[in-house]
Amino acid sequence: MENLFDLPAEYKELRTSVRALAEKEIAPFAQAVDEEHRFPLEAKNALVKNGLYAAHVPTEFGGDGADALAAVLIIEEVARVCGSSSLLPAVNKLGSMPLILGGNDEQKKRWLPRLVKGEGFSYCLSESEAGSDASALRTKVERSGDGWVLNGSKKWITNAGESEFYSVIAQGDPKLRSKGITAFIVEKSDPGVSFGAPEKKMGMRGSPTREVYFDNVELSDDRRISEVGEGFALAMNTLDHTRITIAAQAIGLAQGAFDVATKYAHERHQFGKPIFDFQAIQFILADMAMNIEAARLLTYSAAIKSENNEKDLTFFSAASKCFASDMAMKVTQDAIQVLGGYGYVSDYPVERMMRDTKLTQIYEGTNQIQRIVMARNLPNA
Ligand SMILES: Cc1cc2nc3c(=O)[nH]c(=O)nc-3n(C[C@H](O)[C@H](O)[C@H](O)COP(=O)(O)OP(=O)(O)OC[C@H]3O[C@@H](n4cnc5c(N)ncnc54)[C@H](O)[C@@H]3O)c2cc1C
Repeated sequence: MENLFDLPAEYKELRTSVRALAEKEIAPFAQAVDEEHRFPLEAKNALVKNGLYAAHVPTEFGGDGADALAAVLIIEEVARVCGSSSLLPAVNKLGSMPLILGGNDEQKKRWLPRLVKGEGFSYCLSESEAGSDASALRTKVERSGDGWVLNGSKKWITNAGESEFYSVIAQGDPKLRSKGITAFIVEKSDPGVSFGAPEKKMGMRGSPTREVYFDNVELSDDRRISEVGEGFALAMNTLDHTRITIAAQAIGLAQGAFDVATKYAHERHQFGKPIFDFQAIQFILADMAMNIEAARLLTYSAAIKSENNEKDLTFFSAASKCFASDMAMKVTQDAIQVLGGYGYVSDYPVERMMRDTKLTQIYEGTNQIQRIVMARNLPNA
């Protein structure tokens, strides 16, 4: 019988090649990127050179046309060695999905080929007073002649300042709440755009997170990528497709921590034998492996639902993000336990992996919000 759960050969080959690239060109810099809080330029160059920086972009717009499962595998393998670097392909997908889902061909031709070449795309939904309650956003967009004027600020924007392009979700009529919201593309070089100082973060320290300010930014109507009043629906539809990439990131981080812990358990001797010989350690590792595999299967099925735009995508994408990130938090903590004192210091990468993982439970909607999304979209209800 055909193995339903075995990846087809082309995906296995993709995993092998991205793993080799990540180990050779990204892993050597991961610790320095974290310690120095610096942008992972080596990773960016390697990803751009190998067509992995924004592989999800369709081939007619210069990308590799990687489907949702391929994009998951790429992010997973980069996250296995460096969480911050995995935010490059993940956020490029997040930032450009509103354009891919809502834009016309002319708009796609204008920005997507430049994204693939390394110009970067960020996603601007959250504000200081609008996090989980995203539709309370106050960044204001007003008609001005044939175009628009944008004023306000966005908070927590990943890769802000590095990215050239920004999907900005703005309110045109607060009385209409979510139905007053419209989506636009803003460029870093547009007059009136500026950035705050990088946030000082617990983890993902190589990925800059900044505020973005809009001061009378003039936009022609060809910057608009949703119908007027349909920007919030576009922003939510985007998250249905991209929460899966956060699940992938969490799985990669968990796998990285598991690999380090397993190797360590075989090498470290106490009481005259490898600590792997103690059943207590074996059980920790067995649970880690079991939970990683469970998250992987859920996430890969969510990716296939994203690719086919299936009806239950909203449930599955929220479930994969929630399950994988909670799983990864436990697995990375357990990896530290396996390493004992050595896990608590930065000689080994597991403490960095745990700090990076914490964010996967928070962004693209906290795991409390994922549970609300799941409850509203229960399967077979
Ligand atoms: C490093 C980083 C990078 C980010 N990158 C981006 C980005 O690129 N683009 C972007 O737009 N946003 C980004 N975000 C924002 C992120 O999505 C928000 O932080 C997140 O949605 C939570 O919003 P909040 O921080 O305002 O928390 P709040 O909404 O204030 O939530 C605080 C707590 O209350 C809980 N809570 C809130 N409402 C409910 C409810 N109804 N029921 C139960 N519990 C609830 C939450 O789960 C949480 O535990 C990023 C955040 C961080 C930290």
